[in-house]
Amino acid sequence: MKCLVTGGAGFIGSHLCEHLLQNNYQITCVDNLITGSLRNINHLVKHDHFTFINHNITTPLSHPEPLDEIYHFASPASPVDYYKYPIETLRVGSIGTEEMLNLALQKKARFLLASTSEVYGDPEINPQPEEYWGHVNPIGPRSIYDEAKRYAEACTMAYHRKYHINTRIARIFNTYGPRMKEDDGRAVPNFIKQALTNTPITIYGNGKQTRSFCYITDEIHGLYALMQSNYHLPVNIGNPEERTILDLATIIKEMCHSKSPFIFKDLPTDDPKQRKPDITKAKEILNWEPKISIHDGIQKTITWFSQNNL
Ligand code: NAD
Ligand code: UDP
Repeated sequence: MKCLVTGGAGFIGSHLCEHLLQNNYQITCVDNLITGSLRNINHLVKHDHFTFINHNITTPLSHPEPLDEIYHFASPASPVDYYKYPIETLRVGSIGTEEMLNLALQKKARFLLASTSEVYGDPEINPQPEEYWGHVNPIGPRSIYDEAKRYAEACTMAYHRKYHINTRIARIFNTYGPRMKEDDGRAVPNFIKQALTNTPITIYGNGKQTRSFCYITDEIHGLYALMQSNYHLPVNIGNPEERTILDLATIIKEMCHSKSPFIFKDLPTDDPKQRKPDITKAKEILNWEPKISIHDGIQKTITWFSQNNL
């Protein structure tokens, strides 16, 4: 099988490439390194079945070889990153997605979109099933990401309906693990870095907002199962174990045997108050559910950060 992975030098993309190599795929990884790093794929580039192309996917990509599958993961994903690159985020979600859908059409390839729980915005119902249409501020600071992904979903469905492309839409919920950037600003790397260095742990708001954290290997297995399925409507892929941010910070502080105090800072505008995937569809259609406990996943991540970053 020949596949193309956009955003393959990023956190999730690099783990996906690794998994696909283990499953005998021939991979073309396309990334412009705006938020990713060659460090994430250094161990893959020597592999015969792995090719890296440094390219911005909002411009046409010449790819003469046949393709069976396209995994479209390119996009800044951390709030700190997408605030820094607002226009790039809008463009990769819109123009970049269209470019990749056109490539899928040309190659008759399957196409999987890495969408996000952010399409639900600041949800009014909890947990969120795929049928929920969301509660998104269309002009707020997060809209550059949320609306780009909502457009990407609409575009994917339009190509499916009009051209009968074999498409998949994964709504990915908060995922964490090794290779997250130490400074990408997301809760897990921030808390681990702060706890390991005994510096204050920054809690935004009162810390009672919730998230549901999925370990990277679980996430990859769910994404791969979705690509292999025959289901073209969106599927939530995440861990339904919901916890408050204060709870997450406490777990990380204890597991790092840290002396860090908690300090409370302003809650970013439109920061969702609650988030938990309803994964009934993933269980029934993909026969998938996460297996790694928060303690095991956080331990593996702390170990990686200790050995690689700090
Ligand atoms: P990441 O920033 O580590 O990876 C994104 C990759 O895309 C980077 O390597 C970046 O350089 C590349 N990229 C961005 N714009 C590009 C462009 N125009 N052309 C080529 N490459 C480009 O982020 P991540 O956490 O690995 O997220 C990967 C995907 O999964 C994103 O689409 C994101 O929206 C989605 N997602 C992630 C999470 C999560 O918790 N990590 C949650 C929901 C959705
Ligand atoms: N958060 C926090 N302190 C930090 C980083 C994040 O309290 O140092 C909070 C953030 O406000 C949000 C939650 O943790 O409520 C998850 O944030 P993250 O950036 O990891 O992901 P997202 O907001 O995209 O779910």
